[in-house]
Amino acid sequence: MKTMRINPFEQPQIVQAIAMVYQQSFGSEPWNEGYICPVCEKVFARTFSHKVCPACAERSEVVLVVEYWPIGKIISDFYREMKKTNPICIVAQSDEKTIGFAWGYQVFANPDLDEHLDAPDLHKSLHGDFFYLDECAIAPAFQKKGIGKLLVGHIFREQQQGQILLRTKDNSQMCNLIKNMGGNSSAYLTRKSYNEINRSIKLPAALHKTKQGCFSFHQTKKPHH
Ligand SMILES: [Zn+2]
Repeated sequence: MKTMRINPFEQPQIVQAIAMVYQQSFGSEPWNEGYICPVCEKVFARTFSHKVCPACAERSEVVLVVEYWPIGKIISDFYREMKKTNPICIVAQSDEKTIGFAWGYQVFANPDLDEHLDAPDLHKSLHGDFFYLDECAIAPAFQKKGIGKLLVGHIFREQQQGQILLRTKDNSQMCNLIKNMGGNSSAYLTRKSYNEINRSIKLPAALHKTKQGCFSFHQTKKPHH
């Protein structure tokens, strides 16, 4: 197992592999974004083996579910993120096979960032430049082996901003990972519309690099809107 920084504009085969890991990982627990019903918007894990939405079937409507994260969308989103300021993409490989990734880019705390992250008023609690850890995932078969910690550690070493911003579910594996690296968890805002697509619970948190090279979250109380 190794982690390495890649240039996605020179290594398209790795981009394809990243997209497949993305689809597998976010299609499984705890996200379960495998398929979505285009009519009622109910979401199903990748293990869902029916082609027809059961909720719509109860109303005698036959609706085919579609992939929640089509490979083409993952790839186009990814390249768009990699065109942002100071992007970094790290992949984990085992036997030359890509099994995990972490990527992000530089952001500045301002109202535009609030909008980008669906986190109203976030900039009121943050100041300056951050490395935004946009996505990190490990293929399900390789989870719980410490690979996420290696990826995040590699990102922390490469980034220049000294402050990390990320969103994740409360008590997610990422929260626990950050805590185990010496940080305290912290959460800001959720947005109601997110709840509807099961992603609301991605909470933004600010992480600050200390002189000792470890990381700590700034604790703030979760505001209610
Ligand atoms: Zn439906």
